[in-house]
Amino acid sequence: MIALTFLGCSQNRNDLMPAVVVHADFETEPTPKKGDVLDDSAIWINPANPYKSLIIGTNKKGGGLEVYDLSGKVVQKLADGKFNNVDLRYGMEVNGKSVDIVVTSNRTDDTLALYGVETEKSRLYPMVQKKIETLKKSYGLCMYQDKEQHKVYVFVNNKLGEILQLELFAQGETIDAKEVRRFHVGSQTEGCVADDEQSILYIGEENVGIWKYLAKPDAANHRVLIDSTENGHLTADVEGLALYTLENGGGYLIASSQGDNSYTVYDRKTGNYLGRFSIVEGVIDGTSETDGIAVTSSPIGQLYPYGMMVVQDGENTPSGRQNFKVLRIEKILGKLGLLDI
Ligand code: CA
Ligand code: CA
Ligand code: CA
Ligand code: CA
Ligand code: CA
Repeated sequence: MIALTFLGCSQNRNDLMPAVVVHADFETEPTPKKGDVLDDSAIWINPANPYKSLIIGTNKKGGGLEVYDLSGKVVQKLADGKFNNVDLRYGMEVNGKSVDIVVTSNRTDDTLALYGVETEKSRLYPMVQKKIETLKKSYGLCMYQDKEQHKVYVFVNNKLGEILQLELFAQGETIDAKEVRRFHVGSQTEGCVADDEQSILYIGEENVGIWKYLAKPDAANHRVLIDSTENGHLTADVEGLALYTLENGGGYLIASSQGDNSYTVYDRKTGNYLGRFSIVEGVIDGTSETDGIAVTSSPIGQLYPYGMMVVQDGENTPSGRQNFKVLRIEKILGKLGLLDI
């Protein structure tokens, strides 16, 4: 924050540092309806055949989940509600089996909708579940897995800035959840991501900035501001958050700075701001007003040797029906000087 004192003005620091520009590599099939329909995404890596991995997108106008293959083609639709955010974790133990579990915030009735992934077929199926109620006006969602304790948690938030931490558990084949923690961020929040290895939760308070909390259910609620919409590098709303993880705690936190159609990048270890980028028009149109983002550092064969980023695009041209843009992550991190390739 010394630099702020040096500047001696309230100007957003973005004025001094232009965003690096990149182009999308492909885009998903547009959603059938016009309007602000799509929101968040998650990337599921097929461990047996990475080329059969999936991009799982939410349709918040009642279309539930729209699932794409790596060519962007819709391979599955699960129109089970107004799903706002989605996240996933690998290997939850359910009735003696290891299940990759996909969780969404269902705004139709403020519950969680849960799916498993059938690896052989790269297909989602609804989990047998209890009705898991969350928060009134539920909104964002992210997952946290404590591998040492063999626990899987879901953070759900709402437009009032409340955060509910639920622990998922299986009774036979049936998934249920119990509340383990509840706190308040201050004002409307949505985008969040947990760093499983570091037991950290990052939350975007949409008009304020990105907060870092501890993720364990018995953790204190003290917090650190990673970046701000005031004198920082973010332009409200702060939207999707995602992590690019490297060995030994290395990697990056990436945020959608919705108000200026850019994405900001932070050091995973220190939280220091490292740069920003925009996805601009090329063969494929650029992105704007991005809600959710998803990032993986898992290589997907020769196609995505360093991993992938998926970005919701607020205005997809020429169709006018929203979709997701997909990028090789090394283009972004390479241009920012953050990856040795
Ligand atoms: Ca939107
Ligand atoms: Ca939002
Ligand atoms: Ca959103
Ligand atoms: Ca666009
Ligand atoms: Ca397009």
